[in-house]
Amino acid sequence: MAGAKAAVAPMKVAQISKPGGDFEIVEREIPKPGVGQVRIQVEACGICHSDALTKEGLWPGIQYPRIPGHEVAGIIDELGAGVSAWKTGQRVGVGWHGGQDGTCPSCRRGDFRNCRNLKIPGISYDGGYQQYMLAPVEALAAIPESLSAAEAAPLLCAGITTFNALRHSGAMPGDLVAVVGIGGLGHLGIQFAHKFGYRVVGIGRGSGNAALAKKLGASVYIDSKAGSAAEALQRLGGAQVILATAPSAKSMSEMIDGLGPNGKLMVIGAAFDAIEVTPVQLITGSRTIQGWAAGTPADSEDTLRFAELTGVHPMIETYPLERAAEGYARMMSGDAQFRVVLTM
Ligand SMILES: [Zn+2]
Ligand SMILES: [Zn+2]
Repeated sequence: MAGAKAAVAPMKVAQISKPGGDFEIVEREIPKPGVGQVRIQVEACGICHSDALTKEGLWPGIQYPRIPGHEVAGIIDELGAGVSAWKTGQRVGVGWHGGQDGTCPSCRRGDFRNCRNLKIPGISYDGGYQQYMLAPVEALAAIPESLSAAEAAPLLCAGITTFNALRHSGAMPGDLVAVVGIGGLGHLGIQFAHKFGYRVVGIGRGSGNAALAKKLGASVYIDSKAGSAAEALQRLGGAQVILATAPSAKSMSEMIDGLGPNGKLMVIGAAFDAIEVTPVQLITGSRTIQGWAAGTPADSEDTLRFAELTGVHPMIETYPLERAAEGYARMMSGDAQFRVVLTM
């Protein structure tokens, strides 16, 4: 075992002991990695809106107590049996994709992202709101040296989701791409879209984020409170892709008429109400609506390396693990600028 830390000492974790329960800071024994697992000394873990699934018990089958967290960055400090491709001391991250079964119809076609039995850290097993975490090797992404743990963490869910959705959207360099919502996802989406060579339109509610959107790489800002954003997009020629990051079905519905010919509404902001669209809206101009969820650890590595290469940086507020409840409340308030990250 590398390092001087003994595995018998207790560690601190932030757990939820029942659906709707509050965060509890408790001590647990540092776990031993099993076959095909590594133990990660967690350095930072982003707080994602989807952590509400664990906190509020909105995902079926969660066993409590459960430790949330799927934006994990740290250092491998012990290898389980049978692990050969990773080494202790290596910097790694774990995102939404916490492991695939390797046997379902999607996996048999190599489509691990859509594994029927996808494991999700913080939901299927304990996530990153703790000092030491176990993860299966198929969940690991290597973190480039120049990225700090606190900066890498949000790239493992918010970052990969925007990066991967955009690079699979079909938009080409020079195309008009709108990013709706200047928040945890959107502030990264604008940066990636700009670095991909798109003509980027930032769309937010109110004029408050106009200057920031332009600083992040938008060449145009549309205030959706001041008038129809769809009409404003049509005046620019119509969007090839609209990346809908704000978790509002109403705002997504309002954007569809802003798509140009063969345009695509790319949905990544998770909401449970219905997008409203008429068949005629889709038929006219052959428009499409597509959803997208995160990606595999290989996609995470692409995201991290691209961010390092091009200088994409998440804007973060950090809280110590002991103040997980406060950090979570800050994220839920919508006032954070823009991702909240726990540091251990
Ligand atoms: Zn997430
Ligand atoms: Zn599978």
